[in-house]
Amino acid sequence: MTDLTWLDRIACKGMDPQLFYPHFTDRRQTAAAKAVCAGCPVRPQCEELRGDAIVGVWAGTSSADRKAKPPAAKPKPQPKPHLAVRYDIAEGRNGVELVKLTRNERGAA
Ligand code: SF4
Repeated sequence: MTDLTWLDRIACKGMDPQLFYPHFTDRRQTAAAKAVCAGCPVRPQCEELRGDAIVGVWAGTSSADRKAKPPAAKPKPQPKPHLAVRYDIAEGRNGVELVKLTRNERGAA
């Protein structure tokens, strides 16, 4: 279950929610909402809760801010190991034994 106890610490508690949904041309209201967010101790949680919400001031960002911000870069995938270990059965002087072969992915030993 998701822990939402952080909602007790939000700086916008008890405020008119309309403050956080300004018309996109209303810079004064947007700035006022952002000022509240600037002092909010739970901005990361608010941002996570926002998800893909398009409208409103969330965690100190307006919809215009989020639209202008490039998406976060995805982590680079880690390369696969180039070595594979394979065992072959070989017949030696003392009978059948396992021989450990180490090969790269192209098959060269
Ligand atoms: S960061 Fe989120 S929870 Fe905090 S004041 Fe802004 S809108 Fe409210």
